[in-house]
Amino acid sequence: MNLLIVGSVAYDTIKTPHGDAKMALGGSATYASVASSYFCHPGIVGVVGSDFRTRDINLLKKRAVDLEGLQIDPRQKTFHWSGFYEGDMNQANTISTDLNAFASFSPTIPQKYEKAKAVLLGNIHPALQLEVLSQTKKAKLTLCDTMNFWISSEPKLVEKVFRKVDVICINDGEACQFTGTSSVPKAAGQLLKLGAKRVIIKRGANGVSIFGKGSFFSLPALPLTKVIDPTGAGDSFAGGFMGFMTSAGSQSEASFQKALAVGTVMASYCVQGFSCKKTVSLTKADIKKRLVELKKATTLPEIKL
Ligand code: AMP
Repeated sequence: MNLLIVGSVAYDTIKTPHGDAKMALGGSATYASVASSYFCHPGIVGVVGSDFRTRDINLLKKRAVDLEGLQIDPRQKTFHWSGFYEGDMNQANTISTDLNAFASFSPTIPQKYEKAKAVLLGNIHPALQLEVLSQTKKAKLTLCDTMNFWISSEPKLVEKVFRKVDVICINDGEACQFTGTSSVPKAAGQLLKLGAKRVIIKRGANGVSIFGKGSFFSLPALPLTKVIDPTGAGDSFAGGFMGFMTSAGSQSEASFQKALAVGTVMASYCVQGFSCKKTVSLTKADIKKRLVELKKATTLPEIKL
């Protein structure tokens, strides 16, 4: 286990213009761990309820996700999120968020996780993200994600997390919401001032950018003609990004750029099916194929003026 992931492990009820799914396996830690498992050895810290299905445990085991830190609370139900997407599906509309087992969850981090090289704080209550961070001081790279739900309900705690991590990963609307500006580069600049080495701004179908102090790099999304369900795209991106960074073991500008490409590819597979249907059974060749496509789409010939 070299990448510790904390986040939601959930059942999702989702409606998109291409269909719906009831009580489908989801959650930020689920998507992130499955995506990262192609590059490193992830372990989850989280909780599920007594209703959590054996087949979902088996799916995570199939990807060799370490589950020692996943508690089962026999008195509770699993976290449940319900939402829908319309039109270009760039915006998730939440119908309900039932924290269930997460409402009273206090993480116990298995001893072997304390040595994790990297920590991915997936979208979950920021108090929980802080608790995990305080128990994993040896990590060389930490990344956090969040969403409007926590920015609105717990802005001070979200800021506390932002001040402690190496990489902030957030979508464009949420970056603007948090900083109170309508300019994405300005929002990224303000977030960098909190202390992070890099700020990643996700723009859904419009790609992703990474900002550092004096550095900037951007990639488009892969041009997919059919998106089935965008749920988990951000988490799969973060999982791919951190999975690659964990195995690369270097924090050079080139490593961050390659990780951005790997995250982009993992997100592209995620949105082509409900739940983890696509991302659970990829091959290295599938991943390489899209990395080549992305490289072709982003390499400029020499320009002489
Ligand atoms: P994404 O589409 O990458 O932002 O992630 C969607 C996943 O996040 C879904 O599988 C949900 O179960 C989960 N989710 C939705 N709302 C929350 C929340 N408030 N806290 C933690 N996880 C959530």
